[in-house]
Amino acid sequence: MPRHWKSSSAGLAALGLLAVTLAGCAPDAGPVVTHTPTPAASTAAPLVDKPKSFFNKTQYSIDDPTSIWVVVNKLRPLQPANYAPKLVTLNVPHISAPLMTQEAGDALLKMFAASAAEGGGALQVQNSYRSFAVQTNTHNSLVASLGQSKADAQSARPGYSEHQTGLALDVAALPSKCDIAACFGQTPQGIWLAANSWRFGYILRYPADMTAITGYIYEPWHFRYVGVALSTEMHNDGITTLEEFFGLPAAPDYAP
Ligand SMILES: [Zn+2]
Repeated sequence: MPRHWKSSSAGLAALGLLAVTLAGCAPDAGPVVTHTPTPAASTAAPLVDKPKSFFNKTQYSIDDPTSIWVVVNKLRPLQPANYAPKLVTLNVPHISAPLMTQEAGDALLKMFAASAAEGGGALQVQNSYRSFAVQTNTHNSLVASLGQSKADAQSARPGYSEHQTGLALDVAALPSKCDIAACFGQTPQGIWLAANSWRFGYILRYPADMTAITGYIYEPWHFRYVGVALSTEMHNDGITTLEEFFGLPAAPDYAP
């Protein structure tokens, strides 16, 4: 029996995709598109044995782009590749338009407020949702100017960015310091987020020592909403990547 199934709740609408290393985290979001949830296709391979008690509680698909557990990496593009979630605009400080799914956005507001109240400092949204069209234009421009290899190192291929799910964002300190840079991890904001984001359903998606698994360099600014149940389980288990938690293959690079 599969240990995961897809949620049909529209409130969980999200997509999945990852974004990118440095440059990939930057482009502006495109137009808001409404997504109509479709029945889930439970065709994924069985998951490895992980916390059974947890999977018995709350289980969502890791394949369905509307699921808060969708796993997107260099071996797992969004399906469909041009998936677009239902988004809301968040009333928070930002550098580019703060667009996320309702559920991820609600959690983000709580996290930002808690950071300010608990000494983490003020936060702002650097980048959030990025559409398939925007990612396509960005990546194609880089390929044209740098070639495929260097373009892949700087930007996710279209359909492979977690930013396309509406569940991921790049966080920046307010005022800005170490934006989209490794040193963000040493700022009060970066330190607080790394220690506390799980309380709000967010994970630091690309840890420093997990590049061989995630396919992305250390990105202390990039957070992904997975819901409090999963983030808490990962925190308690000491598992830092979705690939490891769900027993998925490491995804250091795109398939040949
Ligand atoms: Zn990012």
